[in-house]
Order: sequence, then C-alpha cells, then structure tokens
Amino acid sequence: MSTLPWLNPTRAQALQQRLAERILIIDGAMGTMIQRHELDEAAYRGERFAHGYDRAYAPSEHAHGDGCGCARDQRGNNDLLTLTQPDIIRSIHSQYLDAGADLIETNTFNSTTVSLADYGLEHLAGELNQAGARLARAACDAAEAANPDHPRFVVGVLGPTSRTASLSPDVNRPGFRAITFDELRVAYREATDGLIDGGADVLMVETVFDTLNAKAALFAIEEAFDARGARLPVMISGTITDASGRTLSGQTAEAFWYSLRHSQPLAIGLNCALGAKDLRAHVDVLAQVADANVSTHPNAGLPNAFGGYDETPEDMAAVLGEFAQAGLLNLVGGCCGTTPEHIAAIAEAVSAYPPRVLPTLVRAQADDADKELAA
Ligand SMILES: [Zn+2]
Ligand SMILES: [Zn+2]
Repeated sequence: MSTLPWLNPTRAQALQQRLAERILIIDGAMGTMIQRHELDEAAYRGERFAHGYDRAYAPSEHAHGDGCGCARDQRGNNDLLTLTQPDIIRSIHSQYLDAGADLIETNTFNSTTVSLADYGLEHLAGELNQAGARLARAACDAAEAANPDHPRFVVGVLGPTSRTASLSPDVNRPGFRAITFDELRVAYREATDGLIDGGADVLMVETVFDTLNAKAALFAIEEAFDARGARLPVMISGTITDASGRTLSGQTAEAFWYSLRHSQPLAIGLNCALGAKDLRAHVDVLAQVADANVSTHPNAGLPNAFGGYDETPEDMAAVLGEFAQAGLLNLVGGCCGTTPEHIAAIAEAVSAYPPRVLPTLVRAQADDADKELAA
C-alpha cells in the first residue's frame, strides 16, 4: 500500500519506538463510564439540541417549528456528548490516562452519517469526528505535559456502523443490502478527515463484524491519505460474534487477517463481543500469522441478564496477564464493561512481560544470524 510519508513523523516514530519496548495499554469503555453519570434526555441535548434537533441546521432550510418532525430522542447518542457535555468526555479520557493508558480512543464510534441517521444528525459527522479527536488530543497533551517521559496517543475510532455491506438484514431477501460499499466509503471518508483534522495520531477501524465494511473504511482512509500526501498508522480490530469463532461475515481470525493484510496495518486485533477467556484461541492465531502488532481489548466478560458485565479488574487482569506471559500481545485494553480500575489492573498485570515479537522481526533476526554465520 501506501509509501506516503508520515503526516506526523515524530508522533509515529514515538509510537513505534514505544511498541518495541513494551506492551502498550489501550483505554477501556467510554459507554460504561458515561452510564455512571445517569444523564437524562436534556443532558444529552444540551443547549444547541434542546429541541431534539440541531438549532443551527435544518435539512431543507425550513424554519424548525412545532410539529416539523425533526425532533428525535438523543438519549443514548453518546457521541453527541462530545459537543453537549465535553467536560464529561474529557474527564473520562483523563481518568483512563491516569489509569495508565498509552492510547485513548476518541468518542466517535457512531460518528458516521450512516449511524447518525438514527438520530437525524447526519450533518454532524465531520464536526463530531473533529471535535472528538480534539478532546482526546487535549487530554493526551495535558498528560504528556505533566509527564513528558510518557507519550500518549490519540486513536481516532471508526466504528462498524449499524449496517452490513455483505449480508442482507432481511432473511426473505438474501440479495438485499441495506448499504453499499460506496456509501460506506463516502461516510468513512468524511469521518476520517474529521479525525485527522482534529489531531488523531492513529486511526482504528474497530469492532469489525463485516470485513467488507472494514474494506470500505480502509479504502476511504487511503483516499484521505492520498489527498494529503501523508499517512497515519492504522489499526484494525475485528469482533468474533459466534461460538464457532467467526466474524458476522463468516471469517475466522486467520481469514480476517489475510483478507486485510494488504493494508499493512500497524496492528491487527480483536475486541468486544466476548470476554478475554473466550478470545484467547483467536488472539493466539493472530499472534502466529500476523506480521503486524497484535492487540486485544475484550469486554468484561459476557453480558449478564441485566446487560451489565461482571468480570472484575482482577479477573480480567489475571486472564490478560497470561496472554502477555504467553507472548501474544503488543497492545491490550478493554471494551464494554471495562473501567479505569480494569485498565489499571490490566496495565499492572502485563507490565512484567515484554511485547510479542513480530514474525518479520524473527525472520530479520534469523537473516542477520545467517549472515553472521556466512561471514
Ligand atoms: Zn424541523
Ligand atoms: Zn465492546
């Protein structure tokens, strides 16, 4: 793929240097921390969206009024909080940085036109990505200023969207698709540009359940890099959604890697859906086949009857500490149900172990050894 130079060489090199030295820590769940604030509809809406739509914008330039039909419930639209409750989002980022996270994820999981359509706020995609990256950037910059020896990186998150490009949502119409590759490409391009403009150090195509969606995201990212003549490191993280160990679009972890390998990501990994224990076999496969860094950020176990997550920081730390001991990890963090307490415990558990050695590195070392023998 890309032979473009780094957009920000100092940051990209600092990240690679750090990865060579240790297992890096990714933050935990944003949603779980937002829940603790028990925000109501008015809190989600804030001033600007007090009436359930964006006061500053009307799709057909009509004057909003009673019964114009634009009002939507915004409760649960966590990404909107970047604009309406920025202090809360920034403080969550800071709590994860205090817990030891090297990388924090932007609050942009659903900030694509595709997902924002559920809230009637498609027009905010660019703004939410840019503002989300800025907030995370500010939190990272403050942490670095307080401790210059510990670099902190902003991971610009591109979520899977609520639609799948390779499967029909309607069992009676198997040929039907709710979205096309090209529609996804356009949506991801807008989100990517926002994340880059807001100061992301890395981009992560996350919680991939449909590899075709991920390919659209990666295609859009390449377009954005080409337009700038420079690139950022890219991470990819898939999600295993069933007991047979496959993604929703039917791939094993190994097939997932080989179908995305051409994009030469900085890291490939698995997150969400399962707890750490159930992910182990699949992370192990990635660790064997991938000539990229391997990451995982599992949920705090499977959801319980109330939709919550039960694994304690100690539970997760014990399981993920073993992953590290087995040499499977380059980056580790948490997904649904994880908190700063989980991240601190995980960071502590993996700190004793060196990062996984990449297969290419093994090969390069072997080549050097051969040369020495030949000399
Ligand atoms: Zn209206
Ligand atoms: Zn999750």
